[in-house]
Amino acid sequence: SIQWTQNMEQSLPMHDEDEAQRPPSKRLANKVAVITGGARGIGAASAKLFARNGAHVIVADILDDIGATLADSIGGRYIHCDVSKEADVESAVELALKWKGRIDIMFNNAGVPGPSGSISSLDMEQVKNLLSINVLGVVHGIKYAAAAMVKGRRGGSIICTSSSAGIMGGLGGHAYTLSKEALNGLAKNAACELGVHGIRVNNISPHGVPSEMLVDAYRRHLGKMDMTAEDVSIIVGERGSLLRGRCATMEDVAEAALFVASEDAGFITGHNLVLDGGYTSACSTMS
Ligand code: NAD
Repeated sequence: SIQWTQNMEQSLPMHDEDEAQRPPSKRLANKVAVITGGARGIGAASAKLFARNGAHVIVADILDDIGATLADSIGGRYIHCDVSKEADVESAVELALKWKGRIDIMFNNAGVPGPSGSISSLDMEQVKNLLSINVLGVVHGIKYAAAAMVKGRRGGSIICTSSSAGIMGGLGGHAYTLSKEALNGLAKNAACELGVHGIRVNNISPHGVPSEMLVDAYRRHLGKMDMTAEDVSIIVGERGSLLRGRCATMEDVAEAALFVASEDAGFITGHNLVLDGGYTSACSTMS
């Protein structure tokens, strides 16, 4: 057995040297992706990473100026798309079909934070507005992407951005928690129906990414309007991660989305990939 082990070691590739000489991998070569909420934050980081990996990306958002600038910079397309409006999402999927004749990846990432406060003080108009974006916006995305993917007969990957708030209580307010937990059931149900067509449906659940959404939430929560993304990173890193003070970056989440979108995750469906530095596994030791 010693001889066998030595032979195995000799035949092992020199990983580092190989890596250095390998051209950047194109894990999404020629795939067509629609990313909602793609103009900034996690969606923008994903749009850039998907494009670097060979995808043709449609940025779908309501922030027209920065969305269009980003799309231009990555050779993609921009479309104004308010995900709460069914016809807007239908148009985003139609643009993919008109542009490249197919859609392979639908990343339902757009989302908004919820009102804070006690359940008895909830403003129901605010709750309904949040659900129309965070939940119905994702239903719209799955509905039109699934229809096009089934018709295209090439399978596909549908990804939805849920949250650690969909796993634990006490993060982000009642309405936000409701919306993100709802996505976990929705993705599993859609995965059940669409698997037979080779379409995978998965969620990713980030925690504590210092995007504009989170920084703004911290500013309002702590009443410190001059807080920076760096301030928030430090707070979240100390209290919201097991990984030596490190919090998640937008690129961490984009890498997870890339994995789920690609064939590297070809046998993964109905899954919720949690990016929380261990937070939801060990919260009792941290707060
Ligand atoms: P962000 O505010 O930077 O990005 C959200 C994007 O969604 C923006 O580009 C915004 O314009 C867009 N958007 C908002 N309403 C929209 C609508 N009606 N139609 C289309 N686009 C709309 O925040 P982010 O942190 O990058 O958030 C992305 C997703 O990640 C959200 O679904 C959010 O709930 C989720 N998330 C974020 C965190 C975090 O810590 N930042 C944690 C868990 C989950």
